[in-house]
Amino acid sequence: MKPIIAGNWKMNKDPGESRSLVQTLMGLVGDVKDREIIVIPPFTSLPIVAELVRNSSIKLGAQNMHWERSGAFTGEISGLFLLALGCEYVVIGHSERRHVMGETDEVLNKKLKTALDIGLISIFCVGETEKEREQGRTEEVISRQLTNGLKDIENEVHKMILAYEPVWAIGTGKTATPQQAADVHTFIRGQLKKQSSILYGGSVKPENVDTLMVEKEINGVLVGGASLKPESFARIVKYSQ
Ligand code: PEP
Repeated sequence: MKPIIAGNWKMNKDPGESRSLVQTLMGLVGDVKDREIIVIPPFTSLPIVAELVRNSSIKLGAQNMHWERSGAFTGEISGLFLLALGCEYVVIGHSERRHVMGETDEVLNKKLKTALDIGLISIFCVGETEKEREQGRTEEVISRQLTNGLKDIENEVHKMILAYEPVWAIGTGKTATPQQAADVHTFIRGQLKKQSSILYGGSVKPENVDTLMVEKEINGVLVGGASLKPESFARIVKYSQ
């Protein structure tokens, strides 16, 4: 399996800015064949980015979706619409969705099931807060997120990607050490019924990607802030082994 390098742009980049970001990025990583590169722009930029990356090696993902296929859910987006635009991936359970928007394990389980049904590959995020880590509850929290999130679909986890994103490392500049990340990845792998790629996310930068990717338990990275600058993201894509 190729290492996966995914860039989550969060609520940044309007359609014009997205166009120039992805055009520059394509110039920098267009020749990379041995890594799976995924860009995850905001919904409003998906059409323009989809058009630009079509026929390239860059894949498209969305940051969220609703669990229903259509209906009276004002302001929500169906996974079917994402597929129609050319998305192959969708992030489910990002910590900002869990902690800022209040999404529960049960809601995330419904979303994961729908994504599976319609053929979108979920990037399912789990991770502990700083307080939970200090209390020694990292494994307990992640185990709960996995058990509840994957309820009834445990045997289909090989059709998804997992992402370990310690909440205390997201957007804070604090990165888990390669050893801390590898330990939790090993724990996650032990909880899964089938093999799945497990990404690390949390302040991944050009300066720390090489040492993180040395760990064989880390199958790729989910990058927030550093994916907004094409040069930084390209350097992360081209991490050296
Ligand atoms: C993220 O948004 O998933 C993330 C890991 O953000 P950052 O790289 O900015 O910490």
